[in-house]
Amino acid sequence: MSSLSEILRDITLIFEGFDDSRREAKQLIKQIAQIDDVSFITNPDDTLSEQQILNIKDAASKRVQGVPLSRIMGKREFWGLEFALSAATLDPRPDTETLVEAALKFAKTNFNNKSHHRRGCDDGAPFRILDLGTGTGCVLIALLSELPSAVGYSVDYSFEATQTARLNAKSNNVGDRFHIIQGSWMEALKPYSFDLIVSNPPYIEESNIEDLMPEVKNHDPILALSGGESGLDCYEQIIFDLKTHLNPHAHAFLEIGKGQLESLTRLSEESSLSVCDSVADLSGILRVVEICRGDK
Ligand code: GLN
Repeated sequence: MSSLSEILRDITLIFEGFDDSRREAKQLIKQIAQIDDVSFITNPDDTLSEQQILNIKDAASKRVQGVPLSRIMGKREFWGLEFALSAATLDPRPDTETLVEAALKFAKTNFNNKSHHRRGCDDGAPFRILDLGTGTGCVLIALLSELPSAVGYSVDYSFEATQTARLNAKSNNVGDRFHIIQGSWMEALKPYSFDLIVSNPPYIEESNIEDLMPEVKNHDPILALSGGESGLDCYEQIIFDLKTHLNPHAHAFLEIGKGQLESLTRLSEESSLSVCDSVADLSGILRVVEICRGDK
């Protein structure tokens, strides 16, 4: 039997060499044994069960081998909501909250929540959002959680990801407004148009994948990371079809990687669209482009 403070000391030692070994140890113990922060201060002498200790040690040894805590737990918090992960989904990144924030701001100014009408449209249709390459569904589900009358559609190439996203929509109480199909980008959505399109597509240049942190390159699916040789393959496909799926007042918000703004501007213009704004993430990197019809 070990006390909370003893196990914290043991795991901190095991994590020696990590950037902040004590913080990581605490985080792991908290999640595995479901202990809150205050207990470390108020009840350090509480004893943990044999099973809890076994689970903590088992998780710690996986962590030492480079498995991210979110993958060990099979879940990740994003936008204050909990998302299940699977081998086919990207582990949602805090950076991607910038995409949600920008898209949400647009939706709130262009969507009359009371009458359920969208701007320039009095047919009573709900505000329709499309998310391309949804993964865990984190972007669309976060938006639906903030926009109670909106309806969401999403696409993912991987069947396993569509199952994970559907589960996440249910567990976050937006399952009845969340639709998902398996397919490649907009191929399966030919006749439909939307009021808001969002996507965080794979955008890493193939040759840079080797240099990513082991936690990323060894645990996120390659399909969710690689944007081909130039990093732009997915944007090319998305932007080519974008205009036909945007309602007259609709905008698209795409997450981008460092230094990709210029290419996105060029690709948009080639499809008679334009980048009307861009938003930086918390570290100052331009992370989101807002695309609207070029004729406005
Ligand atoms: N949209 C999902 C996310 O932001 C998946 C993105 C991806 O697979 N590239 O997490």
